[in-house]
Amino acid sequence: MIFKCKNCGGNVVFEPSRGRMYCPHCGSEDSEDTVQGGSLTQCVNCGAPLQVQDYTSASQCEHCGSYIVFNERVEGVYEPHLLIPFRISKEQAVAIMEKEFGRRVFTPLDFMSTKSLEKMVGVYVPFWLYDYKACYDFAGEGTRVRSWRSGNTEYVETSYYEVLRKMDVEFDKIPVDASYAMEDGVMDLMEPYDYRMLQNFEPRYMSGFYGEVYNQGAPELEGRAQAKARNASEELMRASYAGYSSMKTFRNDLELQRDGVNYALMPVWEYGYRYKDKTYLFHINGQTGRLIGRTPVSVGKVLSYGASVFALVTAACYLAIRFMEIL
Ligand SMILES: [Zn+2]
Ligand SMILES: [Zn+2]
Repeated sequence: MIFKCKNCGGNVVFEPSRGRMYCPHCGSEDSEDTVQGGSLTQCVNCGAPLQVQDYTSASQCEHCGSYIVFNERVEGVYEPHLLIPFRISKEQAVAIMEKEFGRRVFTPLDFMSTKSLEKMVGVYVPFWLYDYKACYDFAGEGTRVRSWRSGNTEYVETSYYEVLRKMDVEFDKIPVDASYAMEDGVMDLMEPYDYRMLQNFEPRYMSGFYGEVYNQGAPELEGRAQAKARNASEELMRASYAGYSSMKTFRNDLELQRDGVNYALMPVWEYGYRYKDKTYLFHINGQTGRLIGRTPVSVGKVLSYGASVFALVTAACYLAIRFMEIL
């Protein structure tokens, strides 16, 4: 499908800075008509042949420039439940790159040229969001040690405590990216997204961007979500008995129950720069503006630049924690 302007027939796209549909040809807002049809091999607008990759769900026709959303890749088993719309526009993404790298003397000359930066594309990356209920049952023996000196004698007093904890934690939307192409480490650096901004999926949000369907199903990737839930639960548990000098564990039972799973799309700006036979990839969180990447001259570790444009909720924003009972 594509989105065509009622007033001028141009291709209408979702414009992040306006937060709505916009026709770049005549300047109309929310003037779109949905034109259904087309296939993975032919442009619905001009009929030109298309070269679509295995996981592509939205793309741009090289011939007429229309942004196409592929019906069969956003419907049925591939229909996303949720999506965070782009909030950072292409101009803002370019400005973020320029601000970070513009004045670096050692970067190759055309690295920051307008022509190169024009190739930046917005991509919706597939994610699974898992909900869990965790029941944690802990029993141990904690000690507190007190020492003092009287004359030439040092006294040490050790007190023993029976420590019992029962904790119920609810995890809401633990994200795991479902794209082979996206390095897991990069995606982790780009988090957090503000999941309060999740919207119900509508194909029009994808007009103007590229998109990918999930490359692996929810069951295949669940291990990564479970590990995150487990680690977070254990951290909370340890924090709850932090006041003891030592802890001997008798019972440490953590039960995870999956409460739901959602297929969601997250916005990412992507800029690939080719230099001396190597491609350097930069990613910008399409919601927060956080920039991830390395320049061709600093070939060290991948850096994360905190370029958020609005205040984020805490790092653990996917945790909706409710302590039912702490003994
Ligand atoms: Zn128009
Ligand atoms: Zn076309």
